[in-house]
Amino acid sequence: MSAYEVIEHNYDVVVVGAGGAGLRATLGMAEQGLRTACVTKVFPTRSHTVAAQGGVAASLGNMGEDHWQWHMYDTVKGSDWLGDNDTIEYVTREAPRAVYELEHYGVPFSRTEDGRIYQRPFGGHTTEYGEGVPVSRACAAADRTGHAMLHTLYGQSLKHNAEFYIEYFALDLIMDDDGTCTGLIAWKLDDGTIHRFNAKLVVLATGGAGRTYFSCTSAHTCTGDGAGLVARAGLPLQDMEFVQFHPTGIYGVGPLITEGVRGEGGYLTNSEGERFMERYAPTFKDLASRDVVSRCMMLEIREGRGVGPLKDHINLNLMHLPPEVIYERLPGIAESARIFAGVDVTKEPIPVLPTAHYNMGGIPTNHWGEVLRPTEDDPDAVVPGLMAAGECASASLHGANRLGTNSLLDIVVLGRATSIRAAEVIDKDAAVPNAGKDKADAILDRFDKVRHANGANPTADVRLEMQRAMQKDAAVFRTAESLADGVKAIAGIWDRLADLKVTDRSLIWNSDLMETLELQNLMANASAIITGAEARKESRGAHAREDFPDRDDKNWRKHSLAWVGEGGKTQMTYRPVHEQPLTPLEEGGVDMKKFAPKKRVY
Ligand SMILES: Cc1cc2nc3c(=O)[nH]c(=O)nc-3n(C[C@H](O)[C@H](O)[C@H](O)COP(=O)(O)OP(=O)(O)OC[C@H]3O[C@@H](n4cnc5c(N)ncnc54)[C@H](O)[C@@H]3O)c2cc1C
Repeated sequence: MSAYEVIEHNYDVVVVGAGGAGLRATLGMAEQGLRTACVTKVFPTRSHTVAAQGGVAASLGNMGEDHWQWHMYDTVKGSDWLGDNDTIEYVTREAPRAVYELEHYGVPFSRTEDGRIYQRPFGGHTTEYGEGVPVSRACAAADRTGHAMLHTLYGQSLKHNAEFYIEYFALDLIMDDDGTCTGLIAWKLDDGTIHRFNAKLVVLATGGAGRTYFSCTSAHTCTGDGAGLVARAGLPLQDMEFVQFHPTGIYGVGPLITEGVRGEGGYLTNSEGERFMERYAPTFKDLASRDVVSRCMMLEIREGRGVGPLKDHINLNLMHLPPEVIYERLPGIAESARIFAGVDVTKEPIPVLPTAHYNMGGIPTNHWGEVLRPTEDDPDAVVPGLMAAGECASASLHGANRLGTNSLLDIVVLGRATSIRAAEVIDKDAAVPNAGKDKADAILDRFDKVRHANGANPTADVRLEMQRAMQKDAAVFRTAESLADGVKAIAGIWDRLADLKVTDRSLIWNSDLMETLELQNLMANASAIITGAEARKESRGAHAREDFPDRDDKNWRKHSLAWVGEGGKTQMTYRPVHEQPLTPLEEGGVDMKKFAPKKRVY
C-alpha cells in the first residue's frame, strides 16, 4: 500500500504536454465536446515550441508556384525514404489548411507587399519534384514563428472548456491487464500532492529529448519524458537512432541560429573564406538538407579548414544582407548573436557548429496519432486508449531526417488529427475506466524510491556523464567502434541509476527529485538511440556510419523498434515502412513512380 494520498480526476481525454502538439490536440478535443484535461510540467507558453524561429511549411505559393505534391516529394526525399508515405501525404496535403487556420486563430504572420503570408526558402524545399529551384514555403512570423503560434494556440484553448493542470509532472501511465491505457499518475510540483487521472484516452505530447546530448538547441525541459513513460509501459520506441544535428548552433553554447538566415541569403565559409557548400551541393548549396550541411561542416573541420584558434568551427555570414532584412526578418538572431557570441551580425560572421536539435524517432503511431504495439502478425496494431503527437511521436513524417519547418507543421496537423480520431473512438456516454489500485501503487512505489534515494551518485553527475557519452559516441559521424563504446558506456551509466543520490526529500518544488525522474526518462531515450544506431548497418538521413557509408534499401528500409526493458536492456525488432500513399493515383493521389527511392543528392 502506498503512503501517498491520491486525488482522483475523471475525464474523457487527458493530454500530457502544452506545446504546439498538446495545445492543438487539447483544442480539438474540447471543440468536439469531449471532457478534456491538459497536464503540463511547465506553463504552456514556456514549452519548447516557443523557441521555434524559422517558420512552418505549407505550399501556399504566395511567393512563386508551389504544390502539395512537390512538398510531399521533398519530404519523402528528405526522410531518405524512411518516412511513411501515407502520413507524409496527409500532412503535406493538409498544410495550407492548417496554416490558414493558424492565421484565422490570430497568428501574426509577416506579410508580403500585397498582404499575403510571407514565405521564405528553407533547406530541402524545392520545386518540380526536386528538379527545379528552391521554393519559398516556410510561412514565418519574423524569426519568432513558434512564439507566435504557441501564444495563439494557448489563447484559443482557453476559449473552450479544456481544463489545465499546470506544473503537474506526469510520472507514469496506468495500463490495465489487457494492455489498455486507462490514465496516468502526476505529481503537482507546487504543493506536492499526487493526482490520478482516469481517462478513456491519454495523448502524449511531451516534446523531444535534446537533453540526451551535451550540446543541444533544446530547452532544459526537453527530457523525452513521453518515451520514458512508454518504455516503462512495455511499449517500443521507433527510429530513435535518427537524431538531427542542426548545422548552426552558436559555437560553444548551443543556442540556435535559424536556417532562415540561410533562407534569406546567409552562407557558410571555412578558414579559407571559401563558400564550401558550393562544392558539396552544387545546386542547393547552403540550402541542402540539414544532415548534409552538418556533415560537410564536420568534414571541413576535420580536414583542417575550421575557423578560430582551434580550427574547430565554421563561420555563418550575414554581413552582406541589407540591415533592413536583418531587422525586419531576423531580429531575434541579431540579438542571440550579440548575447551569446558577442557578434554584431552586420559586421562579423557568427561562429557556428552542428548541434543536437531534433528527434526524428519517438513513440510509433499511425497518422491519426494512435500508438502502435507492433506484433509479428500485425505491424500496425494499436494500443487502446493511447495516442501520441508532436516531437515525442514518430508518425513517421520525418523518417531518417526532418526538413526544417516540417515540425511546426507536424504538431498542428497531427495534433489536430488525434482529436478527429478521438471523436470516432470515444464513447462519450461510457463510464471512465478505473483500473486496479495496485497499478497506481506500483507507480508511487517507484516515485517514493527515487525520492528517498541515498546512494553514491548525484543526479547531475550521472546526467553529465550520459550527455558526454552520447555527444562523443553518437553524434554526426558514427563508427562500429564509437557505437560499441557508446552502448557499453550507456549500460554502465544505467547501472549507476540504481545507486543515485537525491538530497532533497520534500515534495514541494523539489527540482532535485524532478531532475532525477527526468534523468530516468532521458536514459530510456539514450539507450534506444545508441542501441538502434549500433544495430543499423547503413547510412541514411541523419545516421551516418563511416563503416557503412551507403544507404541499403534492401536490408534497412524499415523502421527500428527499440524495446527498453528492465535495467536498460534494449532489444531491437523492425517493422515495414508504409510505402503506399493515402490516396491512389486514380482518386487524385500522387504518381508513386515519381517517389521511388534514388540517390539523395542536393
Ligand atoms: C531552438 C529551436 C528552434 C526550432 N525551430 C523550428 C522551426 O523554425 N520550424 C519547425 O518546424 N520546427 C522548429 N523546431 C522544432 C519544433 O519547434 C519542435 O519540434 C516542436 O515545437 C515540438 O513541439 P511539441 O508540442 O511536440 O513539444 P514541446 O513544445 O517541447 O512541448 C512539450 C510539452 O510537454 C510537457 N511535458 C513534457 N514532459 C512532461 C511530463 N513529464 N509531465 C507533464 N508535462 C510534460 C511540457 O510541459 C511541454 O508543455 C525548433 C526547435 C528548437 C529547439
